[in-house]
Parts: sequence; structure tokens; C-alpha cells
Amino acid sequence: MSAEVTKTDDEWRRQLTPEQYAVLRKAGTERAFTGEYWDCHDDGIYRCAGCGAELFRSDTKFDSGTGWPSFTEPTVAEAVELREDRSHGMVRTEVVCRRCGGHLGHVFPDGPGPTGQRYCINSCSLQLEPRDS
Ligand code: FE
Repeated sequence: MSAEVTKTDDEWRRQLTPEQYAVLRKAGTERAFTGEYWDCHDDGIYRCAGCGAELFRSDTKFDSGTGWPSFTEPTVAEAVELREDRSHGMVRTEVVCRRCGGHLGHVFPDGPGPTGQRYCINSCSLQLEPRDS
């Protein structure tokens, strides 16, 4: 899988905040209940903080109680890539931005509604574009 947006490690370090770099480029996880968007109810489009690709819309966001922004589905399935993640002694499904290869979070099959999916995404890997801006 080759990403559309490719930058060197140095370029990513310069562009991103240290926290964004740790999450997007090093598959880190922000602490629960600390991010900008876990309790955000504004309308708009959530874009990738690395490359600006549209990833999620606010009308699929729900309160999961986890402390991370949670969505039932991406805007379009093709916006993200799902990868098996066997790190930390668990088998999880990693969610990656297809455009830049940035780590976003994980998806779990315990979500509400017709999709039954819970996309558990780090706030700092997202940038909200409010609907009325
Ligand atoms: Fe991206």
C-alpha cells in the first residue's frame, strides 16, 4: 500500500505537533478524555491532521464514553485503510488515513446502529472543519 502523500520523517516532524507526530507517524494513543474532540458536538467535517483528507462527518459521531472521538463509519470507506494490529498483546484493527498513511486509531465491532462499528479515533489526528465556517 503506497500512500498518495509521502513525506520524510523530518518533514512530518516539522509539520506536526509532537503529539500529532507521536500518534499519526508512530501509532501512539493520546490519553483518554484529554483530546480536543472527544466531547465535541459541533457540526462539520473531520479531516486528517496530517494531510487534510476528509475522513469522518459529525453526523456519524456518537458518545462512546471512551474519551476518544468515536464514529460509526468514515465518510467513504476508501478514505481509510484497515490493518490487522497485533501489538500490545491484542488483536485489533488499526485505522489508517489512506492518503498519507497516518495512524488514526482503531475500529471495534461494538458500535451502535446499522454499521455496528466503533471507529475510535485520536483527537489529535483530526482537524474539524466546522460546517458554518
Ligand atoms: Fe492523512
